Amino acid sequence: SNLDYASYLKGWIRTVPDWPHEGVMFRDITPLLQNPKSFRVLIDLFVHRYMSEQVDLIAGLDARGFIIGSVLAYELNVGFVPIRKKGKLPFTTVAEEYVLEYGNASVEMHTDACKQGDRVVLIDDLVATGGTMIAGYKLLKKLGAEVLEAAAIIDLPELGGSKLVRNEGLPLFTVCEFE
Ligand code: AMP
Repeated sequence: SNLDYASYLKGWIRTVPDWPHEGVMFRDITPLLQNPKSFRVLIDLFVHRYMSEQVDLIAGLDARGFIIGSVLAYELNVGFVPIRKKGKLPFTTVAEEYVLEYGNASVEMHTDACKQGDRVVLIDDLVATGGTMIAGYKLLKKLGAEVLEAAAIIDLPELGGSKLVRNEGLPLFTVCEFE
């Protein structure tokens, strides 16, 4: 069942305390990606969730959303587009700013990354405050995409981000939670 997968996958996520700075519990998915079985279980979980849906495109958030998003796109036989941190994309872009703990951040997408009516799944590794996911959602909407769902491996529900994402009207699927 989905719950068995969730606890199995959660067991492959490493917690690194006080990284990148004091007070942060960093949830590190590199062990999950490194082990071929957990990587496959993760991708298969997402593939089965979306294989019967009409999906045109997977949009992945910089940078861990690229890893799972590109494999998922390949398996679903759809295209992949990156949503990148500011200043990385070479062609014309649309940008969306959002607020961080200290200062601002912004994400960008190529203006031709999707077209009006494209049915998109938005993916990242983790939802904390929800700022990144919501900024990605706004970019996709600017370009006229229909975002079916946002997906992530990890939710940190105590930070309230998953609630904010859903309050934006964007359904959110996450595999497991950490306090
Ligand atoms: P947020 O915009 O606050 O929801 O933060 C989500 C983004 O920051 C994702 O791209 C995550 O990879 C990263 N992130 C935030 N907090 C953590 C954490 N505790 N562990 C690992 N990654 C995190």
